[in-house]
Amino acid sequence: VTLPHDDLAVAWRDARLPTAGVHLDTAACSRQSTRVLDAVAQHARHEAEIGGYVAQVAAEPLLRQGRAALGGLLGATADDVAFVESATVALTLLLACWPLGAGATVAAVPGEWGPNLAAFADRGLTLATLPVDGAGRVDLEALPGWLASTRPDLVHVTVVSSHRGVLQPAAEVGSACEQAGVPLVLDVAQALGHVDCDLLTRGADAAYGTSRKWLAGPRGVGFLAVRPGLAGQLVPVAPAASPERWPAAAGLPPAQRLESAEAHVAGRLGLALAAGEHLAAGPERVRARLAALGRMARGLLDGVGGWSVVDPPQEPVAVVTLAPPAGVTVAETRARLLTLGVVTTAAGPERAPREMTGPVLRVSPHVDATVDDLEVLAAALAA
Ligand SMILES: *Cc1c(COP(=O)(O)O)cnc(C)c1O
Repeated sequence: VTLPHDDLAVAWRDARLPTAGVHLDTAACSRQSTRVLDAVAQHARHEAEIGGYVAQVAAEPLLRQGRAALGGLLGATADDVAFVESATVALTLLLACWPLGAGATVAAVPGEWGPNLAAFADRGLTLATLPVDGAGRVDLEALPGWLASTRPDLVHVTVVSSHRGVLQPAAEVGSACEQAGVPLVLDVAQALGHVDCDLLTRGADAAYGTSRKWLAGPRGVGFLAVRPGLAGQLVPVAPAASPERWPAAAGLPPAQRLESAEAHVAGRLGLALAAGEHLAAGPERVRARLAALGRMARGLLDGVGGWSVVDPPQEPVAVVTLAPPAGVTVAETRARLLTLGVVTTAAGPERAPREMTGPVLRVSPHVDATVDDLEVLAAALAA
């Protein structure tokens, strides 16, 4: 494998403070650009100068550009996008506002993200298991028949999973759901800024995610995009703003009523800018380099020091997971790597409790990573 778009790597690295070591942890939290850091600080200063709510009004055109940029990546308009605090908040809020009857059923794959399963359970939803192939991807041949016989109230798909480098065929799932008349919700927390997420035009009704991972925005900010057909059915519950309780909400598009009135506005601006930087870098170029980095990392790391790659080797994502050799502890290895300046994640089975049997070491480079970076990790794992 060769890595495409070295210029992108250089530009991405030059736009940031130098890393103290080897950062291979995008799936947890990426490195923000200096411009994003400055924009966040500048808005905070502006709040101190002219007043928080005055500064917010002044920032509204930029916030709207941010909603438009996120919407554009998702196949939605600015009006369909709400800024929220995190992906977790987005899902909880969406489910709380969705008038699903008692005993409603949500369908998900066995590898669904653990906290999402918890959100389904807390909302009183019954879980149905989507048919999957050997790698845990939705089985597209079986899906139409399964939807017709099971008739779930909604389907939920995590487009790229956090615990394993697996890309779900979300567009194809979208057309099957559309044909079956079943709403589809997508978790794109690991997908936006990483793989193609133009999915709200292709059968998905809502998509949500987070700023700090592949988009490299600030922490503590997320987004929720809802197509008008579903947004119009939602019944806002606090902290979302219903027009009955909060007259100013009447002027907002239905999706934006889901935004908390009080917010880290500077962080939202940072996300808006990060989404703009992603668009300027060229999403297709970013995807191509990340896919190549994932494949390269798997080829380079599989078998090193007895660690084995869990993901399908060719999966076009830069989430790479390794299972430890017998007698080696993932958490201890992660800590040892950190002492060498190499940042990775130890991912425990709680991330996908219906699929994982033990912890894995997760490696997730962004576009600035080089072969040398991966070789540093390989050498450290071999030692
Ligand atoms: C990180 C992650 C989330 C949660 O995002 P937060 O912004 O931390 O709430 C949800 N789903 C997946 C697949 C994730 O990787």
